[in-house]
Amino acid sequence: MPLDEADLPREEAPEDGTGRARVISISNQKGGVGKTTTAINLSACLASLGGRVLMVDMDPQGNATSGVGIEKSQIEACAYELLMGEVTGESVIRPGPVDGMDVVPSTLDLAAAEIELASELSRENRLRKAILPLVPRYDFVIIDCPPALGLLTINCLAAAAEALIPIQCEYYALEGLVYLFGTIQRIKQHVNPALRIAGVLLTMFDVRTNLSKDVESEVRREYPQMAFRTVIPRSVRLSEAPAYGKPIIMYEPGSKGAIAYVELAKEVVQSGKERAGEGPGRVDRLGGIG
Ligand code: ATP
Ligand code: MG
Repeated sequence: MPLDEADLPREEAPEDGTGRARVISISNQKGGVGKTTTAINLSACLASLGGRVLMVDMDPQGNATSGVGIEKSQIEACAYELLMGEVTGESVIRPGPVDGMDVVPSTLDLAAAEIELASELSRENRLRKAILPLVPRYDFVIIDCPPALGLLTINCLAAAAEALIPIQCEYYALEGLVYLFGTIQRIKQHVNPALRIAGVLLTMFDVRTNLSKDVESEVRREYPQMAFRTVIPRSVRLSEAPAYGKPIIMYEPGSKGAIAYVELAKEVVQSGKERAGEGPGRVDRLGGIG
């Protein structure tokens, strides 16, 4: 894993989270666990609760981009140009589907950044530096990561104060989690001392199966206090919404998926308040990892 200690010190490590955006990276190297669904819907729900939100699509697949109705063929500059320092943050931002939500889109061009950045100086901190001027304008910056632990994901984790880790309620859900925690720990040591784990989010929970319940119990047993109280149910509506370019709160506001993502957004807001002085939050008691 390319970590560059020469990038230290961080001249503007996030402080207590007050007065500036909380930058949250939605990360898991495992594919198809609900990262993009969570990035889109958490962003939209935070905005619907009154937050100013920037969603940054850092996956060359661009699913978060098309999932909020941005036509990729119409994009002139995306996260790639931003990362390579070719454009300012302002020039890539597009309005999102909900009032208060903006988007930095991505296209397949971003795949080249992984290779092109490999030989560059300060390669882990490109995203952090690029979004720095934007951060004061928002309450939340939500970053959708690709399903890999390469330079793009390291850039996401270097730019973030918190990592939110979705895991699918399936066999092997916990496989790879230890590796991800190890990576987060190393990024914390070498690149981003302020990085914390916001929590593990159980996704695609199917009430009809024992498997989902087993995975939930295992996660809550193995990582007590780390899992979000909110569990995201498996819902056809959630999987349909991106095809209409809409977050679930617009596509099917009363659905159980919409209700769950609103609850998650409230939990995320609450954990920030707790950290900002209203007593110790769940995420502060993670001991050792977060
Ligand atoms: P990748 O690693 O490829 O980027 P991802 O982790 O971003 O994937 P998603 O794209 O959010 O995962 O979800 C994978 C698939 O599962 C998608 O087809 C999505 O619509 C579907 N999906 C996600 N969450 C749910 C849910 N709660 N209920 C039903 N389907 C879901
Ligand atoms: Mg994705």
